[in-house]
Amino acid sequence: MTSTAMISPALAALRAELADLTIYQDAPSLRMHSRDFFWFSPVLKPDLEGKQAELIILPSDKAEVARIASACARHRVPLTVRGGGTGNYGQAVPLEGGVVMNLTRLNRVVSTTLGAGRFEAGANLLDIDKALAPLGQELRMYPSTRAQATLGGFVAGGAAGAGSCTWGQIDNLGAVIALEVMTVEPEPRLIELRGKEILKVMHAYGVNGIITEVEVPLAPAHAWAERIATFDSLKAAAAFGQAFTECDGIAKKLVSIHAPAIAPYLKRLGPYLGENKAFAILMVSEPQGDELDRLIVEMGGTVTFARGAQAARAAAFGEHREKGAPGPLYEYTWNHTTLHALKLDPTITYLQLRFPPGRNLKLLDWAEAQFRDDVIFHIEFQRRQGKVYHSSLPLVRFSTAERLYEIMRQAEEAGIQASNPHTWVLNNAGWKRTDAPQPEFKRLADPYGLMNPGKLLDWEAKTTEAKTSEAAE
Ligand SMILES: Cc1cc2nc3c(=O)[nH]c(=O)nc-3n(C[C@H](O)[C@H](O)[C@H](O)COP(=O)(O)OP(=O)(O)OC[C@H]3O[C@@H](n4cnc5c(N)ncnc54)[C@H](O)[C@@H]3O)c2cc1C
Repeated sequence: MTSTAMISPALAALRAELADLTIYQDAPSLRMHSRDFFWFSPVLKPDLEGKQAELIILPSDKAEVARIASACARHRVPLTVRGGGTGNYGQAVPLEGGVVMNLTRLNRVVSTTLGAGRFEAGANLLDIDKALAPLGQELRMYPSTRAQATLGGFVAGGAAGAGSCTWGQIDNLGAVIALEVMTVEPEPRLIELRGKEILKVMHAYGVNGIITEVEVPLAPAHAWAERIATFDSLKAAAAFGQAFTECDGIAKKLVSIHAPAIAPYLKRLGPYLGENKAFAILMVSEPQGDELDRLIVEMGGTVTFARGAQAARAAAFGEHREKGAPGPLYEYTWNHTTLHALKLDPTITYLQLRFPPGRNLKLLDWAEAQFRDDVIFHIEFQRRQGKVYHSSLPLVRFSTAERLYEIMRQAEEAGIQASNPHTWVLNNAGWKRTDAPQPEFKRLADPYGLMNPGKLLDWEAKTTEAKTSEAAE
């Protein structure tokens, strides 16, 4: 444990009880472990800047997690669970201080079988794939933050990523087999959720239980080669993206399509993006690379970058990268596109849109024309429940919060679903919310309302009532 600061008697008692665990209380650690990527949003930034935990605790096994959960429950200390801390909406930012429990040491492979694996929730996604590689298996999907994010954090705060062009989203039926959840009570219990029950905790920002283990189906591993291809317009590139994703015979991991105006932000890829060209960033099973290259040419594109699977894997696994070569290509897609843009232009922000199946390409044309002045599209293809369509995390040249809401309103009116990334309130998460009874499960798993307070609003009101009547008794 490092230096101490002024803390409440409840927290001091908790700290004394857990003194043998790894606890940080120094200012740099408190700041570092209390932040995520909320600063992608100029709307969230002023409100969340400076919100901090009072203690950071890093349990190294489930028994330590249980001791922390019990102590928080008994001393009524707020508890925010943290994985890799790569969320974009301040999901992991503790709004009411207390303890941040960093789960990244809870990172073991629990079991693997052909087609499924069970992992502790703090396991890093890249490390999981490294462990699975010798077994000829891999995670079906991962966010572009694969190198930093945890499996528990992906379930509790993420949505989709590389692999979603084949396997859909993390909340689709079958994407998760089981979750083990620990309650925050004086005597914490472990609850196993399966089937639709999983949705009670899925994308709930850790407000209703500590996910301790995650069991997911695995895919057969492929030797993923990478491609970049340029096209004359976003329309042409998007039509290719649709055709390629629909092409079930070619195994693929990533289909990401970008408007020409994205190119200047992806400096490392500059030599492969051409002048004023739209482009596709792709991952394909290596033996089928030629087939993909033919499809690209057939649809009016030009392959400008091709990297074999061995080199692509070495870049992703951090083993070797040729001087000047780009990092793994998925790190230029999904919300990494925003990260690259923000590095060059701090006035950029983003939105989250989902285009409906069947009309997705037509609506992309409409949206591109409608929001030409301040929105730059890149789209990520997904195959969900047998249908191919795309979502988008478009870059937005930020002017005002009102303008962001206006874009979302117009998009919704046209039939494009918007999920507001400029709020930390779970209730406002739009289509990213599951319709499972998450508040009801919170009553069971977090009866004192201590977990990640401020993220689930209706619950807070009920807890306040409960606390008030408790105090009056
Ligand atoms: C550059 C960039 C690119 C991104 N790309 C993608 C993308 O491609 N796809 C995508 O879906 N997301 C993306 N994200 C968002 C984020 O990286 C992912 O959702 C990621 O999976 C979050 O995992 P994490 O371990 O970092 O979670 P954290 O940020 O640590 O936590 C996320 C939420 O889950 C809760 N939580 C974490 N662990 C647990 C647990 N064990 N039990 C209960 N609650 C828990 C936290 O309290 C928090 O509310 C991106 C973010 C950035 C910054």
